[in-house]
This record gives sequence, C-alpha cells and structure tokens, in this order.
Amino acid sequence: MSDKIEAVKKLFTSKSSRVETNKGDTYYQDLFAKCEARLNEMRAQTPANRLDFSELLEENGIDRREFMKWASATTAMLMLPPMFTPLVADAAVMMNRAPVIWLELQDCAGNSEALLRADGPKIDEIVLDIISLEYHETLQAAAGFQAEKQLDEAMETFKGKYLLFVEGSIPMGMNGQYGTIGAAGETFHDHLMRCSENAAAIVAVGACATFGGIPAASPNPTGAVGVMNVVKNKPIINIPACPANPANMVGVILHYLLTGQIPELDSLLRPKFAFGYRIHDNCERRAHFDAGEYVEEWGDKGAQNNFCLYKMGCKGPMTFNNCSIVRYNEGINWPIGVGRGCIGCSEPDFWDKYAYERPMADAKIKAPTGGVEKTVDEFGLGMLTAVGIGIGIHAAASAVAGKREKSGESHE
Ligand code: SF4
Ligand code: SF4
Repeated sequence: MSDKIEAVKKLFTSKSSRVETNKGDTYYQDLFAKCEARLNEMRAQTPANRLDFSELLEENGIDRREFMKWASATTAMLMLPPMFTPLVADAAVMMNRAPVIWLELQDCAGNSEALLRADGPKIDEIVLDIISLEYHETLQAAAGFQAEKQLDEAMETFKGKYLLFVEGSIPMGMNGQYGTIGAAGETFHDHLMRCSENAAAIVAVGACATFGGIPAASPNPTGAVGVMNVVKNKPIINIPACPANPANMVGVILHYLLTGQIPELDSLLRPKFAFGYRIHDNCERRAHFDAGEYVEEWGDKGAQNNFCLYKMGCKGPMTFNNCSIVRYNEGINWPIGVGRGCIGCSEPDFWDKYAYERPMADAKIKAPTGGVEKTVDEFGLGMLTAVGIGIGIHAAASAVAGKREKSGESHE
C-alpha cells in the first residue's frame, strides 16, 4: 500500500514537462531573422489608425524603462529567449498594423469587458487600444445598416489579412434561429461563416467561443457549440477562460505580428505559451498541498493561513492556464489568490464538470488505468476528470505522513 501511495504522490507532485522552452540556438537565430524581416515589412505598411503608442504611454505616465520591463516579461510569456525583447517592443508599437474584426455572438460580453477594463490602463491594455479594431459589434458607435457597411468594407480592405476575434458560442438549435444579427436576420452561424471566409486566422476568445461555455451547459437548450465545431478550413486559436485574459489576447496578436504565424497550439488549439502549464504547478498554495495542509471549511484556520483549497473543490490540478502567473485585474490577483478554488474555466465543459465545491476525488468517476500528468496532450481529456481520484489519494497520503495537525488521518 505504501508503495502505491508513494507512486501516486510522485505522480501528482511532478512538474509538467511537455512544454519545450528551449528549442536550440539555430532555431532561435532563424526565427529572429524571420521576425526582423517581418517587422521591416510591417514598418513599411501604413498604420490603419493614427494612434501613437509612445504618446499613449506618455499620457498614461509609463516611461520607457517600464515599457521595456513589460516587453521583457511578455517575451518570456511567449516562451522566447531575451534576445527577442527589442523585437517584441517594436511589434507592440506597430499593433496598429494588425487589423482585427470582432464578432459578439451568444455570451455575456465578459471578454469585451476584460478588453476594455475600467481603470488606469496598463501596457497590455494600451497595446489592445491601438490595435486596428476595424469592427466590434458591442463597442462601435455605428449601428444598423451603417455597421453592416463598416463590416463589409473592413473585410474587403483587409481581405486575407485580418484576425477574426470571436466572442460567444454559436447556437445551432432550431437552424440557428436562437441568435441572429442585422436587419436581414442572419444567423450567428451564417454570420461567423461569412466573416471567417477571408480571415487570416480566427481567434476564439473566452469559454463560450472556444468550447461552448455556459450556454452549452446541460441541457444546452440552444445547441451551443464553439467556433472550432463549425469552422473547419481556417487556422483557429482558442483562448479559453471566463473571461479570457487580456494578456493572452495581446500575446496572440503580438506573436502573429512578429512572426506572421499563429503560436504553437495544444490539441485543444490553445497556445502552449498560455495553456501549456497546470495551475497546480504554479500555485502559491502548492506547498500546502504537498504538506497536506488544507482548508476544510470556509473561514477556518486553514483559510486564514492560505492553505490549499483542494478539499473545497479547487480544480487547479486538472486545469491548464497561466492565470496563476499572469493573474487578472492588471496583475493584482487571481481566484486562488483571493481564497477561491479554481473551477477549471479554461477546460471544455467546465460548467458541468468542474464548477462545484467538492473535490474531484468525491466525484463518481472512473480511476485512470495509467498515464502520467503532464500537458493536456499527453494526459488526455478523459484523464482530466479521472485524475481527481489520484489527487484524493495524495491528499490522504500527505495526511498519513503526519503532516496534518492532529491524528494524521485523512477525511477524504
Ligand atoms: S489551491 Fe488548488 S491549484 Fe493550488 S495547490 Fe491547492 S489544489 Fe493545487
Ligand atoms: S483559477 Fe481556474 S477558474 Fe479561475 S480564472 Fe484561472 S483557470 Fe479560470
């Protein structure tokens, strides 16, 4: 029995290791040369708007030093070596050469909210401010026929070059009649298909556009699905989470501007730079998990001491996202930081599978027969739910090891 416990303990305390962070000097030198050429090409293009990045920085009291610190952190987030920092800074300044068309389908507009944010813009938000947002169904002033004309013109002017951002799920029930747009009553499905036809790539933002999100939760009355279920002939980048983190939106656009390519993706089409790591591996409460120190009920001593939230239903061990590193609200905090367990919002079907306050170990799920816990690609989707059982065993193992306060007996 103790061998088994040790094996499980090892399994659930080992770091994820499938994200390749060092691809070798030759790879990076070639990529650097390609990025330089690409940026020279972009520099020669006329900006799609007159917003001046340097002026915006100055207006918001951000000096060059702070900007370069941001560029250096963003370079690391994109999993590029430090030599790329000046190129990332140049790409940020040229964000007004990246035409973006933004569709808003079946959702709560939380991703647009995240894009807008309410107070003092930081650099990520300034970068998003200057992107050439050619059309945004909720933010633009134009309405009705004027808005439709604006969309048609943007798609024609930037044919083959624009990034199509999609927020919200696509209702497929009743022939798509649950959601229509425009005077002609075009269904969300047809609207998406038409707008994606000449896009360079599609970026699905938020839980709804990626995997159907809350509209797709059981019993899914509208037959909601994500973009990748309906668009098949285009590169698609999924930036899930509820809401998607603006830093990851910036990362994807910057990567595209810098390299002319979409970033490396996992099997769920999520950029590995943002979704290659488990929450659990970068969680500030992880030491408490390893020591078998858990919050047992809201407001107890464990909660006051920031112990691990696994027993209160935290799904960090089966969730892949960088919010533990990048955080939300201008980097101030994130859900686990404020004492709330992760509900796996960047995973498919999160609302039905993960959004409740009980440990996965208590769920009626089949135990894995093997496999190791690494990235989602290696781990496999089925395992994501099944792994909870192992985590429960680890919780028990930690307790038995005498690291718990009293008897060392686990209540799992
Ligand atoms: S709070 Fe959640 S993510 Fe953090 S260590 Fe505990 S189980 Fe893992
Ligand atoms: S902690 Fe979990 S639920 Fe919260 S934002 Fe991050 S991935 Fe989503």
